[in-house]
Amino acid sequence: LFVDAPLQAGARIALDRGQANYLLNVLRLRAGDPVLVFNGRDGEWRAEVSVEGRKAADLVCTERTREQGAAADLVYAFAPLKHARLDYMVQKAVEMGAGVLQPVLTRRTQASRVNLERMRSNAIEAAEQCGILSIPDIREEESLERFLKGLDKERQIVFCDEDAPVANPVDALAKLGNNRSGLVVIVGPEGGFTDQERALVAAHERCVRVSLGPRILRADTAAVAALAIVQSVLGD
Ligand code: SAM
Repeated sequence: LFVDAPLQAGARIALDRGQANYLLNVLRLRAGDPVLVFNGRDGEWRAEVSVEGRKAADLVCTERTREQGAAADLVYAFAPLKHARLDYMVQKAVEMGAGVLQPVLTRRTQASRVNLERMRSNAIEAAEQCGILSIPDIREEESLERFLKGLDKERQIVFCDEDAPVANPVDALAKLGNNRSGLVVIVGPEGGFTDQERALVAAHERCVRVSLGPRILRADTAAVAALAIVQSVLGD
């Protein structure tokens, strides 16, 4: 369970009504029952339920069960989709190892404004579900051009281009040098990239253009496919 509070031995964590309801009425936990909590900074802790009346509950931290460890540094840059499709894409990107979520606005991007709070709560839900202790960094949306301009020359881009010739993506990824830290995976909008945008991305010194196969995938499917291939090559 994600809690936005410092975690240390003996710390008492007040739960909001939603969290208390989830523990007491959905999970049917009772006083003294253990819960694993994390806050994105202090590792994972075992805490015990302390019931405060029928609807309220606190947690009391007892011991650290996992060290915080390093946050994922893979950057998933994507043209934001609308509502439920974006919720899905954010959750899958986090489950598939993205540490930074960077919405990039391209000419054919459907959603011009991004609800960062909604993205953050989806990212937290995905982290809770798959046991990640760091909360992904949710960045403000920016134009593809500005994003690329701000990218360190050393950073490597995996450019998922629906127009790329069909070839085994693992061969393309083999061209990535050993410095895989901070890899950037870019997936475009439902309407695809314009040729001008292709040229912008290709102009980045260290960029591999990747085909995700002979079929055109929906953008949220492409997110899963691209990150699965990258993770299988990165092996972490
Ligand atoms: N232009 C197409 C269209 O309008 O149907 C497709 C865009 S596709 C739905 C959205 C994004 O997913 C693309 O910009 C690309 O990043 C990625 N994508 C989808 N299929 C792909 C493929 N076969 N190879 C590489 N990338 C793909």
